[in-house]
Amino acid sequence: MHDDIEHILISEEEIQTKIKEMGKAISEEYDSRFPLVIGVLKGALPFMADIIKRVETHLEIDFMDVSSYGKGTVSSGEVKIIKDLDTTVEGRDVIILEDIIDSGITLNYLISLIKHRGAKSVKIITLLDKPDGRKVDLVPDVAGFIVPDAFVVGYGLDFAERYRNLPYIGVLKPKIYNNEAAASETL
Ligand code: 5GP
Ligand code: MG
Ligand code: MG
Repeated sequence: MHDDIEHILISEEEIQTKIKEMGKAISEEYDSRFPLVIGVLKGALPFMADIIKRVETHLEIDFMDVSSYGKGTVSSGEVKIIKDLDTTVEGRDVIILEDIIDSGITLNYLISLIKHRGAKSVKIITLLDKPDGRKVDLVPDVAGFIVPDAFVVGYGLDFAERYRNLPYIGVLKPKIYNNEAAASETL
């Protein structure tokens, strides 16, 4: 386990077992529909890489990068498009892959954008769901794990761009946040 992690919330094995099941369900539901699978950067990258390998039907992938969080741990409430899709979504069966849904603000925005662009269907698949953090009315179609209202890192999820490479989901030691707060106060 990494030195900065206080404890592991979801192990690598638990994640991989769940992703296998989720991939199987996508294969059955989307058989011959050629879905467009959109990964929300950067957090959904490991999840996307692993889940698409478990899908047996043809699919197309694309990415969007949006931001509603700054460097810290609290949502700014604003959504900004940093990278848009290369693909036209009109008439497509779209699957949005997310790392985690907290306030729901980011996805709420993405769903209306993609529907507005004429997608035939939009399905939300998130690895983690933090229902206690919700600020808008949004329920994912599929959620791998429900997590408590705490800040988690690993498997794509960062704190100040670190820890995305951990193969598990964990909770940081409080001293990591405190050091960061102290560092930004002295700027
Ligand atoms: P929302 O718009 O639902 O509040 O937040 C969505 C995004 O905020 C997620 O895709 C993720 O990038 C970030 N986020 C929300 N909760 C957490 C968390 O516990 N840990 C980390 N590292 N990022 C989070
Ligand atoms: Mg995300
Ligand atoms: Mg982040």
